[in-house]
Amino acid sequence: MEKRAAPLTAAERNRRYRERQKTAEDWPERSEKIRERTRAHYAANRQAILARHKANYEANPEPQRKYSRDRAARDRREFLDAYGGRCACCGETEPRFLCLDHVNRDGVRDRAATGGRNTGIIRRLKKQGWPKDGYRLLCANCNTATAWGRVCPHQEKENSNA
Ligand SMILES: [Zn+2]
Ligand SMILES: [Zn+2]
Repeated sequence: MEKRAAPLTAAERNRRYRERQKTAEDWPERSEKIRERTRAHYAANRQAILARHKANYEANPEPQRKYSRDRAARDRREFLDAYGGRCACCGETEPRFLCLDHVNRDGVRDRAATGGRNTGIIRRLKKQGWPKDGYRLLCANCNTATAWGRVCPHQEKENSNA
């Protein structure tokens, strides 16, 4: 296996990043050439680069897993804020109880379109700027109770005065 330098420290990575930004501002043509070279290098070595990333991940998966976990947690907080942070039926605000409700009951199709995972839906909604049409928050109780188009007991109580 090819020998690789030790990973860069965060400070060194930042320094190099700032340097590249400066190059991009001062010499746009030069930085475009660098981008082209990087793209060409990736195109020519795609298999090897992907294999190296995979090997890195398998040797030391925790940093990437942590990155994904942190990103998912951040997205979820943003998602809950964007949709009001409370159950649309009973007003529950405990974040761990809250989930996305598809008002038009097309959740299965929606999940299938994003690889079957809710994190995929959240990332897609984020990209779309948190569309409100057809989506709302429900707590786990109200979500379960309203499955298959049934009416939540909260609403029945109000109507029957029980
Ligand atoms: Zn509720
Ligand atoms: Zn309810």
